[in-house]
Amino acid sequence: MWRIPEHPANEAERLAVLNALAIMDSPRDERFDRIAWLAQCLYGADVAFLSFIDGDFQWMKSVTADEIAPSIERNRSVCQHIIASGEPLMSPDLKNDPRFDGHPVVPHLPFRFYAGVPLLVSPGLAVGSLCVLRREPAADTPPFDSAPLEALAAVAVDALDLWRRNEDLAHETRIDALTGLTNRRGFDEALARIASRCARTNESLALLMIDVDHFKAINDELGHVAGDEVLRRLGHALGAARVRLEDVTARYGGEEFAVILPGSDSKGALRVGERIREAIAGACIERPGGTLTVSIGMAVQDGGHCDARGLVAAADAALYQAKREGRDRIVGAEARTGAAG
Ligand code: GH3
Ligand code: MG
Ligand code: MG
Repeated sequence: MWRIPEHPANEAERLAVLNALAIMDSPRDERFDRIAWLAQCLYGADVAFLSFIDGDFQWMKSVTADEIAPSIERNRSVCQHIIASGEPLMSPDLKNDPRFDGHPVVPHLPFRFYAGVPLLVSPGLAVGSLCVLRREPAADTPPFDSAPLEALAAVAVDALDLWRRNEDLAHETRIDALTGLTNRRGFDEALARIASRCARTNESLALLMIDVDHFKAINDELGHVAGDEVLRRLGHALGAARVRLEDVTARYGGEEFAVILPGSDSKGALRVGERIREAIAGACIERPGGTLTVSIGMAVQDGGHCDARGLVAAADAALYQAKREGRDRIVGAEARTGAAG
């Protein structure tokens, strides 16, 4: 009689690995499609699929035929047994297999033959399955050889590992090494993405451009190493001053920083800017002749508009007005198309 299998002993680690892979939210990947297709051809199957299994669901990443739903509750799936054991599973005829007697889904499947192997990230740590199914039950001979299917599963795991490394690298190329904040490349991408999203959702979007006052004097009088340390402390103070999770704090370049505030209007953004200015003044970072201060320019893109470059230009113009007016202050951009003061 069929029973829902126990979760494997390493379930928590398994889910953490799967989560770190972030594979479920990734776009379709031809490499996995090819592997599923090869598995189907190799075993003369009617369908093959590659899936990932999280705490509650089995998600089909690549399927060769649309008779298989894109997801199924884990405790109704056949492949959960592969996750539970970490071992291959083969049934020559699911419908006459006592192990699946009473299974909620098996009697309704248009398939009889089933063979699946785990996607093993490390020995005993299965994140998914690679399976082949046939409409007809299998004849007794020749005996089923799971080795080619296991080899294909290993190729899929290699692809997965490459995918993860690429993601890590892509992330690293968007991080500023000195401050740990988002760098200019990450800023440009984030602003373009957020600006078009805010335009679509009719939300306003504010941008703060922040420039250190008299930074050159630090380099000139204390040296570049001291200057770097100041930038590091500034980056830390700015990161700590971030209000909402979706805000993006970036090192725009040199001693200039930027904060993207999705959903903020000019009043809210001026408040955030003022808090940042005070936080930096309060951090008491020393510079020749006093403590470190910053000037901030603010601009807002109204909902329905999308002009990332215009937003940067407007915030930049406001920043230089703050410099002209004596530094250590925040200035909102003049009201104009796409930007409001
Ligand atoms: P202002 O108040 O008008 O902004 O004056 P400032 O001296 O801050 O402005 P300026 O733009 O003239 O100087 C910026 C300096 O920042 C020049 C450059 O040498 C320095 N700088 C840029 N990037 C780095 C860095 O990574 N490390 C260090 N130590 N200095 C940097
Ligand atoms: Mg500057
Ligand atoms: Mg400066």
